[in-house]
Amino acid sequence: MYSDLAHKVAVVTGGSKGIGSAIAQRFGAEHMAVVINYHNDEKGAQKVAAQVKAAGGQAVSVQADVATESGVTDLLETAVNQFGGLDVWVNNAGMEIQVPTHELSLADWNKVMAIDQTGVFLGAKTAITYFKRQGKPGNIINLSSVHEQIPWPTFASYAAAKGGVKLFTQTIAMEYARDNIRVNSIGPGAINTPINAKKFADQTQYDQTVSMVPMNRIGKPAEVAAGAAWLASSESSYVTGITLFIDGGMTLYPAFKDGQG
Ligand code: NAD
Repeated sequence: MYSDLAHKVAVVTGGSKGIGSAIAQRFGAEHMAVVINYHNDEKGAQKVAAQVKAAGGQAVSVQADVATESGVTDLLETAVNQFGGLDVWVNNAGMEIQVPTHELSLADWNKVMAIDQTGVFLGAKTAITYFKRQGKPGNIINLSSVHEQIPWPTFASYAAAKGGVKLFTQTIAMEYARDNIRVNSIGPGAINTPINAKKFADQTQYDQTVSMVPMNRIGKPAEVAAGAAWLASSESSYVTGITLFIDGGMTLYPAFKDGQG
């Protein structure tokens, strides 16, 4: 628990399931007020809102497409109107498409970019504009991936988007540091969420993924949420522009783990 987080207001995009839902619940346990964004899973978002309240926080769920300016504006307005302001904006919403790159349609490329990259830009822009207008400190957390660093054949659009999120995070962290606005990314490794459900249902693919993790297991959404709580809190007050990898060591070149090479 981070005592300075109590009563702070957060927006969490894509909060109806997976990592976003775990972050919302952790923020609830920190007694924060959370705007839980969902795209189409209204029931999921309502369930998460109930969990946030049960944990001691306040919550409201809001439908919005993060790839649109009107969507992110609705999220900010809800935070301000319902909870009196905004302190933390978490750009969590994301998706991936697997296809050989020479077969990837322009429509699918644009879809991944719109959500994973433009959505992060729009969310950050909206939050920064608010923080600057209020003249108050602010905190932005972007869900990147180990694939901002590790190439991922057949997921080129996703890797390109997350690589973009890395430099976007570093750039705006520097641009707004003097405004006391901190911007960081979290780079999860393989986490047990719906995005991986199909892959992890297949024992061979599950085992293959585990073999790429030095800690020899898949991560839990709550372990990513713990990083988000730390980055949101003043315990990380001198941290900006980083990617906090929460990956069981996946970014440590596990192919070398027994001294090969
Ligand atoms: P998930 O599929 O379980 O959840 C993603 C959420 O984003 C869903 O709630 C979905 O509805 C929402 N979303 C998608 N498009 C949206 C839009 N246009 N507007 C609003 N919301 C939208 O995935 P997850 O595993 O919880 O992933 C969360 C974030 O973490 C993503 O950015 C993902 O790329 C990143 N990540 C996940 C893993 C992992 O192993 N699970 C690894 C690395 C990075």
